[in-house]
Amino acid sequence: MLKVENLHVKYGAIHAVKGIDLEVKEGEIVTLIGANGAGKSSTLKAISGLEKAAEGSITFNGQPLNKLSARNIMKLGISHVPEGRRIFAGLTVLENLEMGAYLRKDKAGIKEDLKKVYSRFPILEKRSRQDAATLSGGEQQMLAMGRALMAKPKLLLLDEPSMGLAPILVQEIFSIIQDIKAQGTTVLLVEQNARMALSIADRGYVLETGKVVYAGTGEELAESEEIAKAYLGG
Ligand code: ATP
Repeated sequence: MLKVENLHVKYGAIHAVKGIDLEVKEGEIVTLIGANGAGKSSTLKAISGLEKAAEGSITFNGQPLNKLSARNIMKLGISHVPEGRRIFAGLTVLENLEMGAYLRKDKAGIKEDLKKVYSRFPILEKRSRQDAATLSGGEQQMLAMGRALMAKPKLLLLDEPSMGLAPILVQEIFSIIQDIKAQGTTVLLVEQNARMALSIADRGYVLETGKVVYAGTGEELAESEEIAKAYLGG
């Protein structure tokens, strides 16, 4: 479904991503793990068009993405939930969710998906008329995911969805990600919480200073001693 080959991302003199190859197959959860600054977020941004690739190719169902705008990439079915929840303050929760569907025309489908989002995140329905800025951190994270789902994506890019959440909510977010997969959406997940991410991932890649240093199934990576020492806290 998604193929990334020899991807490079640069910010001026900073070479953040140095030749990454990765693949996401339809129906999978694939995770990118690695230390701070390894290039995980930059890789997601290059895929969704928020940053330009300096070199390399990204294709989605065979179609090259490199030259497309973020909006056109979204139209192809890729939604990105960036790090740090970018919800729209000043708009209600419901308006935020509706914004997620702004490229869609199928009113009945949108209504159906709003119901699904509310059943996945009941708190969003309770808070639907409230300014999104008044939500707690965890609720804003749910809203950001809900908004991305309102676009009915084929591929969902999640950047650290568990960041800053209480342990019980972390559990819940991971189970929601599994549920999203079960409903037919493919997921590419960046996580600091590597152990949890590997436990739900079909496959994973470990990034170090802009390069892939290990790749394998979630199970293989979780069982590797080297990876446990370096990334999973022993
Ligand atoms: P984290 O887990 O801390 O979010 P990451 O693996 O997602 O890290 P990136 O955010 O992709 O890493 O950053 C990779 C490198 O690129 C880092 O050294 C970072 O400082 C640098 N970088 C990222 N964005 C920019 C930018 N807009 N301008 C300059 N440097 C940047």
